[in-house]
Amino acid sequence: MFKEGDWALIRYREKKYLRKLMPKDSLSVRREVLKFSEVIGKPEGVRIGNFEVFRPTLEDTIVLGFERKTQIIYPKDAFYIAFKLGAGRSSKILEFGTGSGALCAVLSRLAGEVHTYEVVEEFHKLAQRNMRRFGLGENVKFYLGDFLEAQVEEGSFDAAFVDVREPVPYLDKLHTSLKNGAPVGFLLPTTNQVVDLLRGLEGRFGGVEVVEIMLRNYKTVPERFRPEDTMVGHTAYLVFARKLTP
Ligand code: SAM
Repeated sequence: MFKEGDWALIRYREKKYLRKLMPKDSLSVRREVLKFSEVIGKPEGVRIGNFEVFRPTLEDTIVLGFERKTQIIYPKDAFYIAFKLGAGRSSKILEFGTGSGALCAVLSRLAGEVHTYEVVEEFHKLAQRNMRRFGLGENVKFYLGDFLEAQVEEGSFDAAFVDVREPVPYLDKLHTSLKNGAPVGFLLPTTNQVVDLLRGLEGRFGGVEVVEIMLRNYKTVPERFRPEDTMVGHTAYLVFARKLTP
């Protein structure tokens, strides 16, 4: 049942809205009005007029609810990253930079502990605000500062993810922070950055892979089932590697 103050994903045909269910509030779309007082007390998945109301998934929360002041890692990439990092209840994951906290929220859902570093105070605060607003990130330690200057215990992390423009200067410190054989991932928007990283990884990291994930959405009309006319052509390249024992 939906309660007052719950977050809800409201669908109106192809449109999606994330709203907090407060009894005096409502949502108007194309002259139809959904009064939230009519949703409170109803079961999840309720249909009222042309509105459908669901409990939001983590993907809905990040995509529709997180305030963004940096480029974020999209769900199509984020969940694959978590999978490649082997995120599980016993894993302690290192991340930098935190940015708006989108990847951090995914890692936090799947891992035991996440330690995330952000050098810009505004983003450091924003990520925490985004998480708290939706009751996420209890297992996240947020650090304000440059990862290069961070006090990190040697060999203390099970995995790491790096989302900064030029990751090569961080590779030594990253290598020392990780356990032997631990997976590490990087997100890079352009091919020249990938080439620089591949050169930087040589010798210290093995099992290198580079992937790009393409996601194509389909129109869901049974009589005219076909792909959407437009799609996101490129988000980023993902590079994965494993720490080689020195
Ligand atoms: N992955 C994040 C997300 O999904 O919301 C977005 C990260 S954003 C593209 C990159 C962030 O890295 C920026 O907020 C930037 O300030 C931060 N950054 C850059 N260099 C850093 C460093 N040396 N240490 C910590 N954070 C850094």
